[in-house]
Amino acid sequence: MPNLFVYNSLSRAKEEFNPLDPEHIRMYACGPTVYNYAHIGNARMAVVFDALARLLKELYPRVTYVSNITDVDDKIIQAAHETGSDISDITTRFTKIYNDHMLALGCLLPDIQPKATEHIPDMIDMITNLIAHDYAYENEGHVLFHVPSYPEYGALSGRSRDEQIAGARVDVAPYKKDPADFVLWKPSNDDQPGWDSPWGRGRPGWHIECSAMAKKHLGLPFDIHGGGADLKFPHHENEIAQSVCECGHGHDPADFAKIWMHNGFLTVNGEKMSKSLGNVVLVHDLLEQKIEGEVARMALLSAHYRQPLDWGDKAIQQAKVQLDRFYQTLHDLAPDDETLSGKQQNNDSHEPDGVEAFLKSLCDDLNTPKAFAVLNSICQRANTLKDPAAAYALKKAGNILGLLHNDPSQWLGYGQCEGQDAAYIDDLLVQRQKAREDKNYMRADEIRDQLDQIGVIIEDTPSGPKWRKSK
Ligand code: AMP
Ligand code: ZN
Repeated sequence: MPNLFVYNSLSRAKEEFNPLDPEHIRMYACGPTVYNYAHIGNARMAVVFDALARLLKELYPRVTYVSNITDVDDKIIQAAHETGSDISDITTRFTKIYNDHMLALGCLLPDIQPKATEHIPDMIDMITNLIAHDYAYENEGHVLFHVPSYPEYGALSGRSRDEQIAGARVDVAPYKKDPADFVLWKPSNDDQPGWDSPWGRGRPGWHIECSAMAKKHLGLPFDIHGGGADLKFPHHENEIAQSVCECGHGHDPADFAKIWMHNGFLTVNGEKMSKSLGNVVLVHDLLEQKIEGEVARMALLSAHYRQPLDWGDKAIQQAKVQLDRFYQTLHDLAPDDETLSGKQQNNDSHEPDGVEAFLKSLCDDLNTPKAFAVLNSICQRANTLKDPAAAYALKKAGNILGLLHNDPSQWLGYGQCEGQDAAYIDDLLVQRQKAREDKNYMRADEIRDQLDQIGVIIEDTPSGPKWRKSK
């Protein structure tokens, strides 16, 4: 197996991945706030870290991938207020929708998907500990982390003290000792969700949930922490401060997570896709438009995860063309998994030709564009040599990234056409064969045209004619 190298946002360098425990890799990525539909920019994070988790599972015997659900947040409270719904109805509904959509995009569910509301006592414990060690203080029912108490604050984002407080300075809350201090706990009124705590009835600030859930489910330190690039500051900076100060080992940011990985933005015409700009494309809408989840997944992985990815018809079209080509090869050469993997094992212990190169590309900081170039060359080799073993390698490599799991015939639409009776089409095909045998080519062409008009394409193959729906 090739060695894995990843870019660590904390050291700002590509590093060889040296797991804390090679028998058990531990990774955390910040998940969604569940109060509305995810857009395809939100989905980029899920797909990127799912791809990374799959790669780690290929390389190591055991991987625990944790990604949380934020189900207590002011945006959720506002959504409940606006729609007159119950908070728990909103969060239950949108957690399910989020998971369904990510499954449609080929993501496995994280190994653990903890919910913030189920970890309030863990957060209260951490906050209590931070207060006891003078990293946090209570004021007017709020508990705040005191940023000047953590000298390494800013190490991840590289923000200077001035940059850290630029936003906060305008309107500094009266209960803050320092403009950079951030909320760990805040009071709730009767209309807001709240839990009893040593500081009265209240609810957590956003950042503390990830510190508490990562500690509980992974233990500190763990190997990799991920999320979108916009989370570096303040969210990830705050997670580091809370966790490192609470664990009591010193002030090294790497006492929380060794490696930090951040995906770049998904853009539309060069601008970040975001609700405030009104340029969002919802995963829900893509799926409604019958864009296959696998096409969207391939498009999302077509750019390197740290680079911006411009979303639009071109990205979708390119992914579709590529996937159709791969599935055509799998269909035409019909690799038989069992026979081929048996043959492979008898030959040697190596991966099928091309899979090693594919893995090597992914091990270079998850270089998916390079990996897709390898997939293309495996596909080309399979087609040129008419080699089922190469088609098997194509499938095996694609599967590592959660691709090419569909049935090729079904993907390409063989034997199916919406709203059409398959028996009627089969019958026309028999009539066309008969006409050809009788050398009645005019009739044969007529039938082809008739089928063409109802969106059915005939392909003459060595094993006889086949039909599929036109794309
Ligand atoms: P938001 O809905 O803005 O709170 O974002 C939720 C998650 O989606 C965060 O992890 C962001 O990093 C990520 N995210 C939001 N917009 C984009 C985008 N255009 N490209 C990539 N990630 C994004
Ligand atoms: Zn987080």
